[in-house]
Amino acid sequence: MVNAIVGANWGDEGKGKITDMMAKEADIIVRFQGGANAGHTIVNDYGKFALHTLPSGVFYGHTASIIGNGVALNIPVLMEEIQSIVDRGVPKPKVLVSDRAQMVMSYHILFDQYEEERLGGKSFGSTKSGIAPFYSDKYAKIGFQVSELFDEAALKEKVARICETKNVLLEHLYHKPLLNPEALMEELRGYKEKVEPYVCDTSAYLWEAVKAGKNILLEGQLGSLKDPDHGIYPMVTSSSTLAAYGAIGAGIAPYEIQNIITVCKAYSSSVGAGAFVSEIFGEEADELRRRGGDGGEFGVTTGRPRRMGWFDVVASKYGCRIQGATEVAFTVLDVLGYLDEIPVCVAYDIDGEVTTEFPATVKLEKAKPVFEKLPGWKCDIRGIKSYEGLPENCRKYIEFVEEKIGFPITMVSNGPGRDDIIYRNGK
Ligand code: GDP
Repeated sequence: MVNAIVGANWGDEGKGKITDMMAKEADIIVRFQGGANAGHTIVNDYGKFALHTLPSGVFYGHTASIIGNGVALNIPVLMEEIQSIVDRGVPKPKVLVSDRAQMVMSYHILFDQYEEERLGGKSFGSTKSGIAPFYSDKYAKIGFQVSELFDEAALKEKVARICETKNVLLEHLYHKPLLNPEALMEELRGYKEKVEPYVCDTSAYLWEAVKAGKNILLEGQLGSLKDPDHGIYPMVTSSSTLAAYGAIGAGIAPYEIQNIITVCKAYSSSVGAGAFVSEIFGEEADELRRRGGDGGEFGVTTGRPRRMGWFDVVASKYGCRIQGATEVAFTVLDVLGYLDEIPVCVAYDIDGEVTTEFPATVKLEKAKPVFEKLPGWKCDIRGIKSYEGLPENCRKYIEFVEEKIGFPITMVSNGPGRDDIIYRNGK
């Protein structure tokens, strides 16, 4: 059985928490896309952790954690992350790295920085982790696969070839120091030494696991609206954030993905530039940001303050649809307990036309939010264990959202911890 856990919004929906929670019953957790540019925050018995590359199931002794072929693999970051959790008392996890995963090179990170510098105010709001240059190179067929580390002669020839083209850009476009092929070879030898114990054919491993009926979780990074095809292009990430891509980025058959648990946040937040229709500003935003998530809405990787907004029905309905949600986990609902009234963006007004369909970017830029206000519940709902135990206005908020997005909300998350979850009966 394969379950995907993916985001309906702009990321930071709380996928890490849901994955960590569901990993209790899982055998294998797979990261299938993205890199160390975003992170998950997890609060469990060992403490509070920020993970960037490791899957969120890594805290259980019984699970295997897979870095799939679709991931942008930053080997030093992965190694540091493994070490950092072991240093804090977590048993050494079983980590498998796909031999087809490609590696983020130090020059990808440099090019990311140089390009943001060059673009100045017109930048994409990159986290400068090298992700866009990495995926560009992957599809331009000049990336380095982990498997290539094991053929030194071929590697040397490729390194020389790549330095040649990269150095043209470094010299003439960015006016920055050139790459040295020998230094790059050293970098790659270092990666080989570090990653070798973890490398395997993870797709073959998953094939056997699927046949044996293992419980497999695919963990997505970011959310629907950051998908390069279906999101707010070009203010998107560079790999697909959709459950469908889980099949490719993990190397399994698409029809094996039976459940698509789409994590949807009870209000909106977004990092980076791009249209954000239900965005709020000033004190209203500051207060939600301060109270949001677990200790404020600031990027896990970058520490940047997240942009804040009210729940967006249009974006979330679309986000769930494009993921193929079979069920929805509705998260961080507890945060809204301070409000007398809760605005919800129920439609977009685009040049006088009111719609609930999420448009492509050019139209999206013109969209104005149409808000409806729901009564708040004015209390702390953390610690409540049953759906019936939630205040009436809180249930009404959930049911309003469920009706508007058109997908069943089966789980409600009312706190950052593993046990802060309410399952809805009959869903
Ligand atoms: P992810 O990338 O989708 O896993 O999301 P992040 O980890 O970046 O952001 C989610 C934040 O919300 C983290 O700080 C979580 O600990 C926190 N969180 C998750 N679920 C809940 C919840 O139900 N209530 C509260 N208050 N915080 C939550």
